[in-house]
Amino acid sequence: MLVDSHCHAYSFGIDELESFKDILIVGVAEDYESSIRNLEISRAFPNIYPFVGAHPWNLQDIREEEVEKILEIARKSSGIGEVGLDRRYSKKTIEEQIKVFKLFCELASEENLPMNIHALDTWRECFNIVTSYDVKSVLFHWYTGPIDLLEEIASQGYYISINPAVTIQPKHRSILEKAEVDILITESDGPYLYHGMSLNPLKIRELMETIAKVKDLPLEYLERIIEGNFKKFIG
Ligand SMILES: [Zn+2]
Repeated sequence: MLVDSHCHAYSFGIDELESFKDILIVGVAEDYESSIRNLEISRAFPNIYPFVGAHPWNLQDIREEEVEKILEIARKSSGIGEVGLDRRYSKKTIEEQIKVFKLFCELASEENLPMNIHALDTWRECFNIVTSYDVKSVLFHWYTGPIDLLEEIASQGYYISINPAVTIQPKHRSILEKAEVDILITESDGPYLYHGMSLNPLKIRELMETIAKVKDLPLEYLERIIEGNFKKFIG
C-alpha cells in the first residue's frame, strides 16, 4: 500500500478523504480543534492514523490550557504531531516552543507514542531533545536538514519523510540522493500549495516513481520497504 506519513487530514472534506481510502495516512494536527477532528475522522476512515499536536507556528495563539488538553487526548491517539521547533518562521516564540516540545517528548516517551516532527532550522536541536527523552519512534518531516545527521537518525531507528516537492526543491532532492531507503517514508503535507504544486495524498504514487528512479530500485520492492518503514514508525 502507498503511505502518507504527514497529512493534515482534518483540512480535507469527506469526498476528498474518500478518494484517499487506498492510502495509509498519518493525520497530523496543529492545535486542539484539529486534533479532535483527526480523532473523529479516523473513526470513519480506518486508513487514517490520528495524531494530535500543536504546530510550532501556532504557539503565539495557543495557551497552556490548550496544550494540556492536547496532552490529555494524546493517549487516545496513534501518535503526536505536528510538533517541533521552528527558528526560521517563528523565532519569536522559540522559548515557548521548546517548553511545549519537551512536554510532548516526555509524554511520547512515557506512553511510547511515535512523534511527527517539524524541525525547520532546528534539525539537530530537535534530534538532541528527542534522544534526551529517549523517544523511541520519530519521523523528521520533509527533511531538509544536515546530511551528516542522517546517519545518526538511522542509528536511532528514526525516519525522515520525502515530499513530492523533491522534484523542485534541490536541497530536498540531495537528501533523497544521500539517505538510505531504510529511513525513508513518503508524505504529502497536504493540503498545501508549494510553489504552484498542489500537495495531497494522491501525489504519493508519482512520488514513489520519482524515488524509485533516483534510487534505481524496482517500484514494487520500494513500496514494500516504505510501507514496512511506515508500519515500524507507527508501531
Ligand atoms: Zn505539516
